[in-house]
Amino acid sequence: SERTFIAIKPDGTQRGLVGKVITRFEERGYKLVGLKAIAPSKELAELHYDDLKARPFFAGLVKYISSGTPVIAMVWEGKDVIRQGRAMIGATNPLESAPGSIRGQYCISVGRNIIHGSDCFEAAEKEINLWFGKAGEL
Ligand code: ATP
Ligand code: MG
Repeated sequence: SERTFIAIKPDGTQRGLVGKVITRFEERGYKLVGLKAIAPSKELAELHYDDLKARPFFAGLVKYISSGTPVIAMVWEGKDVIRQGRAMIGATNPLESAPGSIRGQYCISVGRNIIHGSDCFEAAEKEINLWFGKAGEL
């Protein structure tokens, strides 16, 4: 069955939104098959977002993700979970996220948008390996 990598970012953890996010995925019918709290190193954050390293916000993004506050790293499984997970999360900029989406309900800043979800099958594979494989210890 299809799997995706979902992570609650430091602001989501700090704001106590972990339970709400998990409940949405559970109630939708998805299965939680991996879960851990991890304060990512700079190296792990850089590898996770390596496709964005040329962007002007990359350094700030890495700093935010590796701030020391735990990220809740999860693997969710079920039908079409990659695409559905992205739809449940909402647009990257919360000001453009549908009001019923996770970002659309809980945030207003693109640099503090609570949650990450893999955007395609290849990204899901890469991210699950990164966070739950050996590199997850970086
Ligand atoms: P994520 O990968 O975290 O799920 P996304 O796929 O919706 O988010 P990406 O384009 O992969 O969006 O960007 C990764 C993250 O970088 C965004 O979630 C956001 O926190 C940050 N980001 C993206 N664009 C900007 C921007 N213009 N200014 C500041 N931060 C940004
Ligand atoms: Mg992305």
